[in-house]
Amino acid sequence: MFLSKNYCITFTAYCLLFTAYSFSQEYRNSGFSKPVNLPFNLAGSFGEPRKDHFHSGIDIKTNGVEGEPVFAIGDGYISRIKVSPYGYGKVIYITHTNGFTSVYAHLSTFYGAIEKYIHSQHYVQQKSELDLTLDATIFPVKQKDTIAFSGNTGGSTAPHLHFEIRNTKTEHALNPLDFYPKEFYVDTIPPQINKVKIYC
Ligand SMILES: [Zn+2]
Repeated sequence: MFLSKNYCITFTAYCLLFTAYSFSQEYRNSGFSKPVNLPFNLAGSFGEPRKDHFHSGIDIKTNGVEGEPVFAIGDGYISRIKVSPYGYGKVIYITHTNGFTSVYAHLSTFYGAIEKYIHSQHYVQQKSELDLTLDATIFPVKQKDTIAFSGNTGGSTAPHLHFEIRNTKTEHALNPLDFYPKEFYVDTIPPQINKVKIYC
């Protein structure tokens, strides 16, 4: 009895490790580049508990200032733009060709033609808050295109870029750090295991 349970635990652990490994390999092979030209010095990490939700992305520090250029991490198109005094503030969603969606939040301004388009939409809709769903023909993007400048809009208390990567189909948020090599980020907090649950 003890042996079989022990075997089961070991087997489950191997399965979990293998699954985590293959997913992180798949994510690393996505070929995404960085959303800002800065190291990933984090003010907030993926999955940490917030007041009424779990943090669904990473908060990248922007040296205490706004206006850092924000880049598309891969080819695709801008599929949603939202402007709000709350939450994500000014935010861009890019649907990529490889099955992922990236999200860039708390932006100060959008870049070039995107900013002009949003400006005109404020007039057309006679509203300061916007939530626009866009098709692939309006703003197609190439990897590393500048799309906006970082800021402190919405529910943000200091300049930073809130950055997410989601599975486009399921909309599940994934850990953006799984998509990049370790050299890209500065991680000063050692991992802490709070709870382990194994089902047999
Ligand atoms: Zn955040």
